[in-house]
Amino acid sequence: MSEERKRKIGIMGGTFDPIHIGHLILGEAARQQFSLDKVFFMPAGNPPHKRNRAGRAGDEQRVDMVRLAIASNPGFELSLFEMNEDGYSYTYRTLEMLRNKNPDMDFYFIMGADSLFDFDQWREPQRIVNAAHIVVATRNQTDPDVFNRLLDQRREEFHGDFLKLDTPNLDISSKHIRELIRNGISARYYLPDPVREYIRKNRIYLSSAENEEKVACSGKG
Ligand code: ATP
Ligand code: MG
Repeated sequence: MSEERKRKIGIMGGTFDPIHIGHLILGEAARQQFSLDKVFFMPAGNPPHKRNRAGRAGDEQRVDMVRLAIASNPGFELSLFEMNEDGYSYTYRTLEMLRNKNPDMDFYFIMGADSLFDFDQWREPQRIVNAAHIVVATRNQTDPDVFNRLLDQRREEFHGDFLKLDTPNLDISSKHIRELIRNGISARYYLPDPVREYIRKNRIYLSSAENEEKVACSGKG
């Protein structure tokens, strides 16, 4: 099949605990900027020992929240590809499996700059780069020169396609939202109303999360 006819598919992966407007804006910006046919929102599975932690949403709840958040956008789709019984799968395996199953698709893996900083510590980063274009949005007020240098460095290291996503710095994180909710502070507008309502109804993020610090740093790669 010729390259031109391939469907262009964005993949927005994350823990989404909870999904917030940062994730949604990244997905929509990538859809626009790279003329993607679809963006798959792909919640990462949790290994069994991480499934029902205090102060966190359960796997099904994270999926429900993603479903609610993307419902109004026909360009977005939920993918349960990584929600399997034995916990998370590594990104390189996901992308390789998706590619093998869908030779008619070209994949754009979307991430924030924080993920690009740790990218060399992810499992098999070279195989990720071989399987997808990497689309990166700025985050945490990264200096533009530092961000550009990091992109160049990654291009040289992996000989891959690292593309800069044109987004403003979006100072928002799931961790911050969990803290707001736990402290009874409004998280309105940080996340779509149906998601906020779901969190309220299901009384998620009210108890204090043990190991919040540790967990927040454990990117899976
Ligand atoms: P947590 O605070 O729990 O780590 P998070 O807000 O970082 O949550 P994740 O689910 O960890 O959300 O992120 C999934 C992907 O989205 C990562 O690649 C991350 O870099 C990116 N991302 C999340 N929020 C933003 C944001 N505000 N700006 C840019 N990228 C973001
Ligand atoms: Mg994160």
